[in-house]
Amino acid sequence: MKIKNLNNWGLKNDIERPMLIAGPCSAETEEQVLQTARELAKNDNVDVYRAGIWKPRTRPNAFEGVGSRGLGWLKKVKEKTRLPVCTEVANTTHVYESLKYGIDMLWIGARTSANPFAMQEIAEALKGIDIPVFIKNPITPDLELWIGAIERIYNAGITRVGAIHRGFSNYEKTMYRNLPQWQIPIELKSRIPEIPILSDPSHIGGKSELIYDLSQQAMDLNFEGLMIETHLNPKAALSDARQQITPDELASIINKLVIREPMTDDQRVLHELAELRSKINILDDQLLVTLEQRMKIAEKIGLYKKKHNLTILQNKRWEEIIYGMIKKGAEKGISRLAINRIFKAIHQESINHQTEVMKKDN
Ligand code: PEP
Ligand code: MN
Repeated sequence: MKIKNLNNWGLKNDIERPMLIAGPCSAETEEQVLQTARELAKNDNVDVYRAGIWKPRTRPNAFEGVGSRGLGWLKKVKEKTRLPVCTEVANTTHVYESLKYGIDMLWIGARTSANPFAMQEIAEALKGIDIPVFIKNPITPDLELWIGAIERIYNAGITRVGAIHRGFSNYEKTMYRNLPQWQIPIELKSRIPEIPILSDPSHIGGKSELIYDLSQQAMDLNFEGLMIETHLNPKAALSDARQQITPDELASIINKLVIREPMTDDQRVLHELAELRSKINILDDQLLVTLEQRMKIAEKIGLYKKKHNLTILQNKRWEEIIYGMIKKGAEKGISRLAINRIFKAIHQESINHQTEVMKKDN
């Protein structure tokens, strides 16, 4: 794909990492939209102003956005603060209305990017129009679906395309509103290296107090930017009240972020890093040899169980392993969660090997 670099998007002269999109979840009143923008415009770090005009709400009877009249308010924001403005579009009417009001940039939400019919319609409506578009990840953790949505927009001739990582729906209650599953945007970056990826810690965390850590994590993973929901009075917000922060809080979070460089040409640093990495490679090779040996023994046990007509899974034995490892892990600074994950995966692989040998004829 020939996607333009963020600095050639023509939105602002000089977009430094992190590109920052900020503004309320929803446009509520003209006063709120303009006052928030005035506050945000005082902060040089803010590159683009956001506000949702049409709100995709999970259940009916919630606040569904102010509709097209809010576009007029965004137009005023642009005139009064010079901040480029963006909003969410979910169908062709939204696209045409936004273009009519001179909205500078569009984003496509997580419920829409999950729907190829809607994506195709939006892409058709954008043919021949030169506007930047960000595509949020679909609510399901499906990288192909996300890439498909990006391709549809790109194939419509849009060269200023970006992705926004906003986390993935999950049935289980966790500390996050939407699970980050960082490996998915990371894989997106390796599949489409030129696409800028922003993270949306507001919708991932769902709580204002998680925004800083999630933002720092996104920066440490070399994401290009952040989209953060900002409200003058978060508690009174008509949507996503729990995750919005004030413009002042936003400023202090951004100032606190440590922005690390992905690359250096300092030869000494490079050399030391290479040395440490080669040590990691050696250890990884050792891990692999250990795993290979473990699987061989597991296969022997499989044959033995087969001969003596025993089941593969013996819960007591498994509990012994896992509790023993959790205890030993704690002494070595490896968390219970990590031990659980690693040893469950190893145990599963052993079971697979045993199943294979048991299936084979003698
Ligand atoms: C939003 O940005 O306010 C929004 C509705 O986001 P998402 O599509 O990520 O849920
Ligand atoms: Mn929101």
